[in-house]
Amino acid sequence: MDIRELFKLTDISFTLTQALTGHAYNKHYLHRFHITTDDKCPCDNSTSQTLDHLFRECPRFGKLRLDHEFLCHGHLGVSPYELRSLMRKRSALQSYTDMVNSILSDLKKFNNT
Ligand SMILES: [Zn+2]
Repeated sequence: MDIRELFKLTDISFTLTQALTGHAYNKHYLHRFHITTDDKCPCDNSTSQTLDHLFRECPRFGKLRLDHEFLCHGHLGVSPYELRSLMRKRSALQSYTDMVNSILSDLKKFNNT
């Protein structure tokens, strides 16, 4: 394995750890620790902003999600949000990681935190 490959894997595992543990700058998490006054997502001001909401429902990230779902359903035949399924195809896992990274890096701006 070359060094670039290793960095890629490290990047994937860091992102997935954040995603799986729910420890990111999402408001559901911040609110639990009293960093924000509420846990509502700015997309409708009523849904709790869990990572699940952000990755699978939030309209703010609809475009990212569509690209990922199209790749998974349309080309690779894997389930776009099940890690077990994603892990069978390297490009699906990479696509998921890219999507999650984009969402997480946009989150502070989105939430204005
Ligand atoms: Zn939302």
